[in-house]
Amino acid sequence: MTINLKQNDLSHVVAADREHVWHHLSQHKQYETVDPRVFVEGKGMKLWDVNGKEYLDAVSGGVWTVNVGYGRESIANAVRDQLVKLNYYAGAAGNVPAALFAEKLIEKMPGLTRVYYSNSGSEANEKAYKMVRQIAARHHGGKKWKILYRERDYHGTTIGTLATSGQAQRAEQYGPYPDGFVMVPHCLEYRKQWDVENYGERAADAIEEVIRREGPDSVGAIVLEPVTAGGGVITPPQGYWQRVQEICRKYDILLHIDEVVCGLGRTGAWFGYQQYGIEPDIVTMAKGLASGYAAISCTVTTERVFEMFKDAPEDGMSYFRDISTFGGCTAGPVAALENMRIIEDEGLLENTIRMGERMLANLASLMDKHTVIGDVRGKGLFCGAELVADRQTKEPLDEKRVQAVVAGCLAQGVIIGATNRSLHGGLNNTLCLSPALIATADDIDRITNAIDSALTKVCG
Ligand code: PLP
Repeated sequence: MTINLKQNDLSHVVAADREHVWHHLSQHKQYETVDPRVFVEGKGMKLWDVNGKEYLDAVSGGVWTVNVGYGRESIANAVRDQLVKLNYYAGAAGNVPAALFAEKLIEKMPGLTRVYYSNSGSEANEKAYKMVRQIAARHHGGKKWKILYRERDYHGTTIGTLATSGQAQRAEQYGPYPDGFVMVPHCLEYRKQWDVENYGERAADAIEEVIRREGPDSVGAIVLEPVTAGGGVITPPQGYWQRVQEICRKYDILLHIDEVVCGLGRTGAWFGYQQYGIEPDIVTMAKGLASGYAAISCTVTTERVFEMFKDAPEDGMSYFRDISTFGGCTAGPVAALENMRIIEDEGLLENTIRMGERMLANLASLMDKHTVIGDVRGKGLFCGAELVADRQTKEPLDEKRVQAVVAGCLAQGVIIGATNRSLHGGLNNTLCLSPALIATADDIDRITNAIDSALTKVCG
């Protein structure tokens, strides 16, 4: 059965949605007066809702996911062919797409060798945390069990990953949290915490200070986004990553890079960490991995990490005692294989670099006209514009006006994002742009023109 809607079914769909769907990140009270937006179809970067209204999607499916765009028949066909052959097998045995995709992925990640499958970014990160804990238990006599995370980073929605949320507004209503997760300061230079010349190195040194305070023997890993996404599109300052890497080596701390957003081309390289010459021990990825055509995530490790689970003592308990039931679905790796082929064959990394430069330049030029833009930053097709009430004091623009700018773009048929809303106010004042890697110059200009008009309307 395929779902083919006739015109008069559509109001039924909206009613069904309003009555029965509990939407992510939404206050449902709004649906007492406004219809929920329900999409029917997508092609390339365009979407159509139940009313036939067309949108240009500048956020790749709401949360930086649909990297190769909507309506890709080759991915749908590959998934269909695989599902009728073998839809699933999990546990100790493998399946063909899982093996072939792991091989292809590893080709793009020199220094890493092993791929562990699951379904979401949160789950991939949980797996990594469990690996660190097991390494602590079996190889460090119970020491090195703490995991550091950074202010303003985000790693997922489960209780374990929320324990590493650097965004207080995401975590504050769901505690108490498990022990052993410790926050280090963010590295956003626009909101300086130290008045020094080498800001990147200073921000990284702050990590070392936390390690010393906690005791180097107690710290097993640090998890970091290469470019912070939902926390405000934070690109690292010069010198930051090199120093972070040195600190990890100095204290024998595993470097876990969360590529859930940056992975698979978003910044113009296969992975964000590759932009900064980082050599991670663990890399997690999800969203763009199969562009949302199937659920899949991976926790990728070095052989050194993998080997630590091989050294079985007499009791035979050293192997990673973990499973993800749907990590055995073949749809994920087969979609991911085709997704990767598309990125490669269509030159989408190169396009991302070119179009990303255009998007950043367009945003920068809007700063001349709109004093409300305090800072613009980004890497590849992953840009942010931080809005402030006053450029001198950098006081964040109030959330109402930030949301009005987002709504103003929507009214023009352009979907943009903004940093997560908070209970108590705070730094939720950055417009976020993450169009598909297929974006053209016209698409980019239309997105930034919509922001220009919305800013004029909301802020004058
Ligand atoms: N890591 C980062 C950097 C993310 O932005 C997200 C989600 O937005 C996650 C992890 C969690 O991924 P998921 O929602 O697939 O669990």
